[in-house]
Amino acid sequence: MNLVVKIGSSSVTTDDLDVNHQVVDSICDQLVHLHAAGHHVAVVSSGAIALGLGRLGMRGERPSDLVTLQAASAVGQVGLMAAWAAELAERGLACGQILLSASDFMERRQYLSARATLSRMLEQGIIPIINENDAVADDEIRLGDNDRIAALVAGLVGAEVLVLLTDQEGLYTADPRRFEDANLIEEVQEVTRELASLAGGRGTSRGSGGMVTKIMAARIAAWSGVETLIAAASNPDALRAAPSRKQGVGTWIAKSRRRLPSRKLWIAFALPASGYVKVDEGARRAMRDRGSSLLAVGVTEVGGAFSAEDAVEVLADDGSVIAKGLARLGAAELRAEVQHRRAGMTADYSALALHRDDMILLEA
Ligand code: GLU
Repeated sequence: MNLVVKIGSSSVTTDDLDVNHQVVDSICDQLVHLHAAGHHVAVVSSGAIALGLGRLGMRGERPSDLVTLQAASAVGQVGLMAAWAAELAERGLACGQILLSASDFMERRQYLSARATLSRMLEQGIIPIINENDAVADDEIRLGDNDRIAALVAGLVGAEVLVLLTDQEGLYTADPRRFEDANLIEEVQEVTRELASLAGGRGTSRGSGGMVTKIMAARIAAWSGVETLIAAASNPDALRAAPSRKQGVGTWIAKSRRRLPSRKLWIAFALPASGYVKVDEGARRAMRDRGSSLLAVGVTEVGGAFSAEDAVEVLADDGSVIAKGLARLGAAELRAEVQHRRAGMTADYSALALHRDDMILLEA
């Protein structure tokens, strides 16, 4: 089977911003085991920025300006790759570096090209070591979150399991750093909003994620037909145990019953939303219960400056995101429709805001 494993910055680097060789070693040992059993694994490794800062002697407070961090990532990425390549070569495994940008998920052609390369590497038993192309991704377009990248890659390569390795054992009933009686949740059937709120805040100063981004990544994975295991990077068996879905190694998050086709996954989770439309309860029900398209007449509010074909979020009256899709009308035209109706003028009941074929319902 294909698997994707992601290791966070707080696990792959030490407190003094060096490579955590113990963790890299342990993961490489497990990769050998998985390969011998016929599995193919892609690794998403964070840590470029943290390691780069260490190598540049910037161990104090993390610089806040993006360009310095980008420069640091360029330095750190080399060290990161050197560590992975050396450890894997020692074990007879080949690896290659893949640096992805947001546009590789957003542009369909690049998406297919990335998929072809990654699939070929996996077929040939080469371990892709993936990171975001931090050195050139500017603030506007960077994904900035390797949990999400790992989930998108898992969908891209048709993985069966996504393993998110971090500095915690898994998802707890409360933040274990603050509450002593917090318990590990071993199994989650569905990622709900309540669950996301359990996840607490940001992780460490070195990593960017924390549990929230892991839960969101697990949600992307679930819709892609991929199961997620969140486990401790220090657990020497977590990755090895993934193909057999072994219990007791962390938190398993089930895949959803419905697997979205790749175009819909791409619209739902890779394309950034350029705005939103808020809809009334009637439109919400028609979309949810009958799989209807969204007509302009059901829109009550329009946010942002999107054009036709841009991705937008569909919000319920309470502001929760219930769907995402490609707009058929631009924001200005839709706003005009809403104002028309408010002024009591006859609305065009057939004007389409979002077509069902370009829309993904995201209600749990
Ligand atoms: N790409 C960043 C790095 O390698 C990490 C992003 C993340 O922590 O999710 O430093």
